[in-house]
Amino acid sequence: MRATFATEAVPGRPNEDFVGATPDAIVLLDGAGTPPGSESGCVHGVAWYARSLGSTLLAGLAQDGKPLTEILAEGIKAVASLHDFVCDLTHPGSPSATVVMLRRTADTLDFLVLADSVLILDVIGTAEPMVICDDREAQVGAAHRTAMDALAAGSPGHVSAHRAYVETLRDHRNRDGGFWVAAVDPLAAEQALTGTVPADRVRAAALLSDGASRLVDRFALATWRQALDLLNDSGPEELIRRVREAEHADPVGERWPRGKIFDDATVACFSVLP
Ligand SMILES: [Zn+2]
Repeated sequence: MRATFATEAVPGRPNEDFVGATPDAIVLLDGAGTPPGSESGCVHGVAWYARSLGSTLLAGLAQDGKPLTEILAEGIKAVASLHDFVCDLTHPGSPSATVVMLRRTADTLDFLVLADSVLILDVIGTAEPMVICDDREAQVGAAHRTAMDALAAGSPGHVSAHRAYVETLRDHRNRDGGFWVAAVDPLAAEQALTGTVPADRVRAAALLSDGASRLVDRFALATWRQALDLLNDSGPEELIRRVREAEHADPVGERWPRGKIFDDATVACFSVLP
């Protein structure tokens, strides 16, 4: 298989996305940010969390053929043990991350999606790609974002409305009826969307953090099919370039209201060599 990826942080900020690959697996995480002025109980921060969990998951994928949910549960536990003696992991704002894992075996492609990063599978013989996205956070969030979306991004009112929105969502994090992310509780792994497809049915796959998938699912500037074609023809950096272009064209979130005007954007592509 061939794997390529590109990742770009919000200008001037540490990248809270993580992406990595082995010859048979790809992992993509999007760390959930702590807005300015908000507490997290962790001295390490969100970027550290995403990198620590991402590299632990890659190591787990490289070493054995356990189910992906088991590798994720063990990874969450292992990273918690790296800082539970210095940080307050009971804090509702402790760092968290979305997770997408893709693993190729001799015959199958196994996948896992937890929270709002997106996996697209280009399945041979179907016109529309298969899109796997866990939208529970968006559903919970829809009821709480009206005040934030009504304000111009970057204004003091928007900054505090965004902080209030993030803090409200924490009450629904890793709870039944809410949404699930990788954080401290290994049971979150059981809430991930998982599946297996025959490896010879998949032409290509793409993993996107929501900072990249917004080209399709928030800006509606491309369909999933067009995004896959763009990745195939021009590579992941071109998709991110188009996202940045759209963000710059709407600097206060008038056309596309959003919590973050710019977001870390990451795309990983996998294709079967001819
Ligand atoms: Zn910590």
